[in-house]
Amino acid sequence: MNKEKLIDKACALSRPYAVTDGASFKLKKVDPSDTGPFSDEDKPKAREALAEGIELLAELQDTLYAHDRWSVLLIFQAMDAAGKDGAIKHVMSGVNPQGCQVASFKVPSSEELDHDFLWRCQRHLPERGRIGIFNRSYYEDVLVVKVHPELLDKQKLPDAVRGKGIWDTRYKDIRHFEQYLANNGTIVRKFFLHVSRDEQKKRFLERIEDPAKNWKFSAGDIAERAHWKSYMDAYEDMIQATATKTSPWYVVPADNKWFTRIVVAAAVIDALSSLKLAYPTVTRAQKDALHAARAALEAE
Ligand code: AMP
Ligand code: MG
Repeated sequence: MNKEKLIDKACALSRPYAVTDGASFKLKKVDPSDTGPFSDEDKPKAREALAEGIELLAELQDTLYAHDRWSVLLIFQAMDAAGKDGAIKHVMSGVNPQGCQVASFKVPSSEELDHDFLWRCQRHLPERGRIGIFNRSYYEDVLVVKVHPELLDKQKLPDAVRGKGIWDTRYKDIRHFEQYLANNGTIVRKFFLHVSRDEQKKRFLERIEDPAKNWKFSAGDIAERAHWKSYMDAYEDMIQATATKTSPWYVVPADNKWFTRIVVAAAVIDALSSLKLAYPTVTRAQKDALHAARAALEAE
């Protein structure tokens, strides 16, 4: 398939899952088992399309790197076992590692807790020409911390700034921060991999039963599952408050990993191709210098 057609297809596939104006967003309208235009029999076709998409993504990333002006930040958030790691691994598999930086954010260290909540993430923002991937992010500070408000105690905030309005304040700060990034040439795209509670249970059981997957399971994951409703409320509030045209959330159905991956790849293709980048063209003087260099090499 030619490049333009592939880009059109990627846009058509991913855009139904984009939330560009959070105000009217309702999480229950997104079905985690949705597979868009693909039926189960289409799986091989979808895999082929993903392979093609990954190739195109690699090419687009190469122009991003050569152009060296824009950067792209991809943020991944999800419940446990929704497939964040797999999506990151597959979608970025064709991309030159030199042009890509992944940062994973875990329970904050004491050094991190000694700063404002954006601090640890700012240190990992992508350089110009690069794609930065956040596996979890500052959004944890309006998700896990909102579900477990006792975690706020550890953040050493002065009483005067930790009143009831703290979540709205954080949403606003995040909106402004992402606008600031956009104003400085960083394209931000955010992905919520939306898995159902039943599918999570199935994947946890696999992790418990399959020795090769045991390492992925931690007892704490079950404890978090018990707060499912609170998490879904926190995700919905977060998306409503922080999905904007410049910094959209993609709410990606995640009960079928093959579909999750193709939607994520398509959304990244949409973002990169919207920059309309081409390899830098050389000036007359640079061309003359290239000819002179060739002449010098041939004369050796
Ligand atoms: P994993 O990504 O599965 O290795 O788990 C990382 C854990 O760190 C998750 O349970 C997150 O909820 C937790 N985490 C990440 N950021 C924060 C934060 N700011 N405060 C508290 N817990 C966090
Ligand atoms: Mg985990």
